[in-house]
Amino acid sequence: MSNGLLPTGVQRRTIDGTERLATRGEPVYGEPTDGEWRAWAPDRSKLGAMFELEMETGLEGGETVLYLGAASGTTVSHVADFAGPTYAVEFAPRPARDLLETAASRPRLFPLLADARKPETYAHVVESDVDAIVQDVATRGQARVALENRQFLADDGRLLLAVKARSEDVTREPSDVFEEVCTDLEEGYEIFERCRLDAYHDDHLGVVARPR
Ligand code: SAM
Repeated sequence: MSNGLLPTGVQRRTIDGTERLATRGEPVYGEPTDGEWRAWAPDRSKLGAMFELEMETGLEGGETVLYLGAASGTTVSHVADFAGPTYAVEFAPRPARDLLETAASRPRLFPLLADARKPETYAHVVESDVDAIVQDVATRGQARVALENRQFLADDGRLLLAVKARSEDVTREPSDVFEEVCTDLEEGYEIFERCRLDAYHDDHLGVVARPR
C-alpha cells in the first residue's frame, strides 16, 4: 500500500516482526506496540480494513470527526490518535464506560453516551461542519443513521461507512442488502467508492461518500 493513502499520523511500521498499520498513543485493546507506536488491527476495525484495502478515505490527519458506534474505543482510539476533535457516539452504557477510560489519555476524544438515531440529543455538543463521519453501528437502518447525521458534515466532508449485512437482514444475500443500503444512502450522499471488507470482516461493505 502506498503511504500516500494514509493520513499523517498513521504509518506502516514493523512491530513484532510484522509490517502493520500503526498510530501513536496509549494501547487500548492489547495490541502490540513499539515504543509509542501501537498496531492497528484491521480484523478488529472496519476503518483499519478500509485502509488495508486501499480505499481512498480522503483522511489526511487533523480532521474533526464524528464517530458513530464507538463501542469501547478500539477504532475511535486510533482515529483520535491522528485526527483533531473526535466526537464518539455510543449508546450502550457498558462499552461507553470503557470508552471513557480510552479517552482519559486522549484530550481530543469526546465520548458521548447517545443514540445515533437521535442526533438532536448531541447536536448542542458536536460542532457543525465536521470533516468526516465514521460510522460502524452494526444495527438495522444503517443508511438512515448516516442520513440523519448528514447535517453535521461539511459540504466537502466524507462519510466513511461500514455496513454489516446481517444487521439489516440475516436471511438475505449480503450483496442484495448492500445494494439496498447504497440506494437508500444516495438520498443524501454521492458514493465515491464501495469495497467488500470480507478479507477482514465477513459480509461487511466499506463505503466512501460525500454529501449531495
Ligand atoms: N466501531 C467499533 C470499533 O471498531 O471499535 C465497533 C462498533 S460495534 C460493531 C457497533 C457498536 O455500535 C456497538 O457498540 C453498539 O452498541 C453501537 N450502536 C448500535 N446502534 C447504535 C446507535 N443507534 N447509537 C449509538 N451506538 C450504537
